[in-house]
Amino acid sequence: MDSLIRRLEAHRLGESEGSSDDRHKDESAKGIVPAQKLIPTRTLGPANRGRLLQALYDIGPSSRADLARLAGVTRGTIGGIVQPLIDQGVLAEGEVIPPNEAGGKPATKLWFSKDARPICAVLLMHDRVSACLVSLEGKVYAQHAADFPKNLTHPTDAFRIISTCVEETIASGKPILGIGVAVAGMINTETGTIVTASLGPFLDGLPLEAELHKRFGVTVCVDQDTRALLVGDRWFGQGRGRRNFASVHIGETLGGALYLDGHLYRGPAGAGGEIGHTTVDIKGRICQCGRRGCWETIAGSKWLTDEAKVRRLPQPHSLDVSRLLTLANDDVPGARELLRDYAFNISVGLANLQQFMAPNFIVIHGDIVRGGNPMLHLIQESFRELVFHRPGDEIALAFEDSECLAALRGAASLLLSELLNFVI
Ligand SMILES: [Zn+2]
Repeated sequence: MDSLIRRLEAHRLGESEGSSDDRHKDESAKGIVPAQKLIPTRTLGPANRGRLLQALYDIGPSSRADLARLAGVTRGTIGGIVQPLIDQGVLAEGEVIPPNEAGGKPATKLWFSKDARPICAVLLMHDRVSACLVSLEGKVYAQHAADFPKNLTHPTDAFRIISTCVEETIASGKPILGIGVAVAGMINTETGTIVTASLGPFLDGLPLEAELHKRFGVTVCVDQDTRALLVGDRWFGQGRGRRNFASVHIGETLGGALYLDGHLYRGPAGAGGEIGHTTVDIKGRICQCGRRGCWETIAGSKWLTDEAKVRRLPQPHSLDVSRLLTLANDDVPGARELLRDYAFNISVGLANLQQFMAPNFIVIHGDIVRGGNPMLHLIQESFRELVFHRPGDEIALAFEDSECLAALRGAASLLLSELLNFVI
């Protein structure tokens, strides 16, 4: 907790940071660098409100005095930020702290209101849509899901299934704040359109944000699933209280997202994060994206099953990391070697990410997590050999096991940030 508070103290409210909302960087998206502008007053309010809410998520229910001390501002300033959030029903006064011996006034701890409207979170994969309600405290409930039929070809048919799933989810509860959607695909975050979902081409070009808004009449926020995972990690998972880290998804497809200097980095219109398609072998296999030698061709789960077939391991088509570990423990010929090779291939992409952006902490999601600690240790071993170490730097990898929940909470958090108009 001490180190968490130290990190938060370094992250005081009101620090100058320039205009960093990448959704509004039209000029830089076109490659033009405008003169450094002053921070408009209307941006400072949401930025401070965002930092205060993040601090609450990081340290739990807190009094105004605690928040003022952490933020390095007066209690009055905190009151000015908090009161509108109480009036909007986002925050509520909670547990009463008795007056101290010096005769101070009793204080109350602030926390997210139990009566606040929930957010509908949606996770859209190439074969399935899941939805749930998420309370502002991060509680997930009313989960519904539907599979996409194999013969689906048109975005309209996919949208019908998605909207029915959302309808069922919100039917039983109170009115929702809005809808946050995490999509396993490339997203234009300016328009909320699915650019392409390589494993589910029937979703290509679907203007999901606009269609859901038209259908349900609430604010909708759509983003790539790995970025939603990162936001879920930041607010509710192992990224809590951190200023820098990365989240990487390793499964059938690979994706990455970066949280740098306290901000989610999306790239222009959400074009960043395609770490699975960075080239690692110029003479390598053809990737499903059509290019050659992408990281995905050596670290995706397809590499594992293809390689198991070549190396004549039993039942190669259904091989995953968990069964490979069992085979290795049983000394099945070739299993241990394949396990080490796969761990090395994964560490190559993670090392490239670390060398270039130095997130120093990488949270790993996806099928690979089924390998548990033995797999994590193997990846760490190769990773350490591949990255430079500067004295004093702490660089770590971690597995996150609640992937689906992290993505759903992340989708909800994306919406919350959008709705409260603060920068994440
Ligand atoms: Zn590729």
